[in-house]
Amino acid sequence: MTPKLAIVTGANRGIGLQIVKDLARKGMRVVLTARDTSKAKAAVAAIQGDVLIHQLDVADAASIAALKRFVERELGRCDVLVKGAAIYIDEGRSILTVDTDTLRKTVETNTFGPLFMCQAFVPLMIRNGYGRVVNVSSESGQLQHMGDSTPSYNLSKTALNAITVMVAGATRGKNVLVNSMCPGWVHSDMGGPMAPRSLEEGADTAIWLATLPDDGPSGGFFRDRKPMDW
Ligand code: NAP
Repeated sequence: MTPKLAIVTGANRGIGLQIVKDLARKGMRVVLTARDTSKAKAAVAAIQGDVLIHQLDVADAASIAALKRFVERELGRCDVLVKGAAIYIDEGRSILTVDTDTLRKTVETNTFGPLFMCQAFVPLMIRNGYGRVVNVSSESGQLQHMGDSTPSYNLSKTALNAITVMVAGATRGKNVLVNSMCPGWVHSDMGGPMAPRSLEEGADTAIWLATLPDDGPSGGFFRDRKPMDW
């Protein structure tokens, strides 16, 4: 049987890199994408499995188009798409004063990046009759607990969850399952050294969603493999 082909964004470090390791260990062929492929080469050297590297800046339309051309011409399929790339650049800021550049940069990376990746690869999934899309979101995007902190990050993740629901709607009945997940507070560059969760724990729900059976959920938001409120 042909191994499943997975693409992971923001995968040269942190939770994204852990997801690459876990999917490769499950026997998938994985395209590890990174803004700077030299950082990715060092990361891949330590991974066992079938892992390719391709450049991808999710905030750059030309970079997404180049990855799409490569996948369509060289690989012909995309079965699994996990989008972990994100920035967190407005800690300590307020919604009343956050500047336009910070808002724009965050939404371009954390929201439009995953949306444009869906536009690039979900049609291929639909054509092939199989797809699993995982949007790595955050409880920071949950409306019910939202206060005045990290405004652009919160906004970007709430909007990402809306994209999950809409893309799930657009793929209903086509065996393309689209979900958001929160990894919890994870020990990474973004989460910092005080975070209680390991990278493996942070990646677990993403791996579960990336390998759902055909009757699995779509259009949901999960942490620890359980549904979360929006
Ligand atoms: P991280 O260690 O900061 O890694 C972020 C990754 O995203 C890096 O590989 C970074 O690449 C990449 N990236 C940033 N901008 C990019 C762009 N424009 N194009 C492509 N890649 C880009 O973060 P993490 O903790 O692993 O977080 C992974 C995901 O989990 C994120 O979506 C984050 O919002 C979410 N999350 C994390 C936590 C937590 O506690 N850590 C909690 C909730 C949600 P460079 O090396 O080039 O910068």
